[in-house]
Amino acid sequence: MDAARLKQSWSLVAAHGDQVPLYFYSTLFLAHPETRQMFPTNMAGQRDRLVTALGHIVSHVDQVERLVGFLQELGADHRKFAVRAEHYPAVGEALLATLRHFLGEVWTEDLAAEWAAAYGLVSKVMVESAQAAESVSPPWWVAEILAHERRTFDVAVLTVRPQYLLPFTPGQSVGVSHPSVRSWRYYSPANAPRPDGTLELHVRATPGGVVSSRLVYGCAVGDQIHLASPVGDRLTLWPAGSADLLLLAAGTGWAPVKALVEQVAAENSGRRVDLYVGARSRSEFYDAESIDKMAASYPWLTVTYVVGADPLRPGEVVQVADRALADGDWRARHVFVCGSDEMVGHSVSALTRAGYQAGQLHHEGFGKYWYGPTWRTATAPDDLGGVR
Ligand SMILES: Cc1cc2nc3c(=O)[nH]c(=O)nc-3n(C[C@H](O)[C@H](O)[C@H](O)COP(=O)(O)OP(=O)(O)OC[C@H]3O[C@@H](n4cnc5c(N)ncnc54)[C@H](O)[C@@H]3O)c2cc1C
Repeated sequence: MDAARLKQSWSLVAAHGDQVPLYFYSTLFLAHPETRQMFPTNMAGQRDRLVTALGHIVSHVDQVERLVGFLQELGADHRKFAVRAEHYPAVGEALLATLRHFLGEVWTEDLAAEWAAAYGLVSKVMVESAQAAESVSPPWWVAEILAHERRTFDVAVLTVRPQYLLPFTPGQSVGVSHPSVRSWRYYSPANAPRPDGTLELHVRATPGGVVSSRLVYGCAVGDQIHLASPVGDRLTLWPAGSADLLLLAAGTGWAPVKALVEQVAAENSGRRVDLYVGARSRSEFYDAESIDKMAASYPWLTVTYVVGADPLRPGEVVQVADRALADGDWRARHVFVCGSDEMVGHSVSALTRAGYQAGQLHHEGFGKYWYGPTWRTATAPDDLGGVR
């Protein structure tokens, strides 16, 4: 497969911006109306996700050995949209029709065959993993809300209990949907797995956000939500071995980091952990009680709060990573970073400039980008998702 050719043709298509998903979905829904029900009623946010992901994945098919784990996860995860094997050819047809439309004369039989082969490979992995997952886990779990606490105006902490055990690794995220909203978003359990199977979710309502607003403002104890298979390996502890850790969290990025702290506590390995947790103002440390309790209980844990907008220094924004770098040299540690895309982007740049290596930096942003695989080698491109 000529990956360079696939990538080059994809970049020509992607240059058409919003027109590309618009054409893709119109083609898909016209030819296969039965696929419409798999997508949200309001397609605005959906538009760029699937098509961007498809284009990236297929045009990186030469790195299939690295993509494979991600595609397997994605295939199993897509069962939550009621995607079945017969839908994959429909999506493939719409993708090829979209490419043909935007590539004009560049689209040749040869190139069509390259794209068809690449998509065929990707969909085969996804279909097979979805089938394999059938015997292991349900497409989604119904979960009851056991506790719903509004900690700040826009942040709620939910404790939920899935009807069957939902196994996950600290640092992963799970798909969450509300029965009244046909959309899924990822949220990161803020706990290590518990004997009673409950999960703690920290949700910030995004202005105009379909799912987060519902979870923060429109849910109560006793309501049911839906959860989907855990995804992600960017923030899991295994690549860090038994190294000491520096943890940088901001906003609800604290959720997966809290799960990591709980995991370290459970493993009782004696590693040292320094945690820097940031918020825009003092009143936004929505989980300070738990953090203080952890700091008091675990002698291996040192906590520093970083207030982003200090009223005493108006206009000056203090970044979590800058504070940590000013406090010490952590280059012997593995660093885990979670927060908004901006916070994560800033942290990774600052740490890299300060001499930290890509292999010791593990990060995940909560932003608008699609959920992508991790590229672990220093030379690999990081354009599949990058920071989210
Ligand atoms: C792997 C992963 C884990 C995540 N874990 C958490 C978590 O534990 N807690 C949590 O609160 N959130 C988390 N998020 C973000 C979450 O998945 C949603 O993106 C967010 O709640 C907004 O969803 P929505 O449906 O309410 O907004 P949408 O309806 O999708 O979007 C509404 C508007 O908000 C913008 N927008 C969407 N997402 C964001 C964002 N994250 N920041 C700023 N603007 C945005 C959109 O561009 C749009 O304009 C995570 C995201 C990822 C990718």
